[in-house]
Amino acid sequence: MKVVFIAEPHSLEIKEAPTPAAGKGEALLRVRAAGICGSDMHIYHGTNPLAKYPRIIGHEFAGEIAALGEGVEGFSVGDKVAVDPVTSCGECYACSIGRRNVCERLEVFGVHRDGGFAEYVAIPVANLHKVPFSWSFEKGALVEPFTIAANVLSRTECAGSDKLLIMGAGPIGQVILQAARRLGTACAVSDIVGVRLEKARRLGAELTVNPKETSLEEAIGAWTGGKGVPLIVDAVGSPDLFPSLLRMASPAGRIGLLGFSKEPSPFVQLEAVRKELSIFGSRLNRNKFPEVISWFDDGLVDPELLVSHRFPFVKAKEAMEFVQEHPSEVCKVILEF
Ligand code: MN
Repeated sequence: MKVVFIAEPHSLEIKEAPTPAAGKGEALLRVRAAGICGSDMHIYHGTNPLAKYPRIIGHEFAGEIAALGEGVEGFSVGDKVAVDPVTSCGECYACSIGRRNVCERLEVFGVHRDGGFAEYVAIPVANLHKVPFSWSFEKGALVEPFTIAANVLSRTECAGSDKLLIMGAGPIGQVILQAARRLGTACAVSDIVGVRLEKARRLGAELTVNPKETSLEEAIGAWTGGKGVPLIVDAVGSPDLFPSLLRMASPAGRIGLLGFSKEPSPFVQLEAVRKELSIFGSRLNRNKFPEVISWFDDGLVDPELLVSHRFPFVKAKEAMEFVQEHPSEVCKVILEF
């Protein structure tokens, strides 16, 4: 079989590899669609501090079951499935309180262990979620990015009565916007790319701001009648934005963080204490696949709106270079297998 292989940073090749066999409790997945994520780009460029090499990348993928290993029940050959890329030990403190996505021994497909940019992958069936046969494989591959939104909105207890400021209107900002709009939450979106803001308006953003043209803090002040915004989700992750988030938050406000920067932020304790702010890190997803699959089924979000380009997987290198060179045109790129 063919796989997308990253031997070391900046080196991506399509390589022949032996087809794996499904072990005990595993299914052999014939991968049919996979999404390219910002974190795949970071692994390719050597800027993901969590990645290990060499690596078959890809953590947003779906396909059909080609074979079953020993002791598997509840799945059949031919089932269409989406893959939750999070694996956990089940024993550490985080796992013991149900927070398996921050397990001490967390391993993510495509990051810490080989992932889904391959024609076949052996996956523990605990990580597989059946999706309807009527779905495209692409739709199955889009469940994972929406689980990022489901996770941060549940961490921050987003409600329909909230006002939510989303920092960033790239793929993650857009899934958060769609997920919040299904609750009826009023959303403002900030991004420096005009076409992304137009998309955010089409997806139901009440206010869009380009901070290169307008002061975001002033626009948010006007939008909230000077009260500050109760909920902010940062899908930009630039450390120097953080003090501004603290200023824009209302008293008792919540801030959800998704970025991965190692750089420190200037943090003003007074702002956090005076307003009793809550700050939530949100990583990957905690058992959110069933919830997102039901959003898709009920038509509460429109995953296909996320897809901007498709490439055959053997052109993965060209696809990743395309993402790199066209940041404002590209949203989600799907590799087809
Ligand atoms: Mn992703």
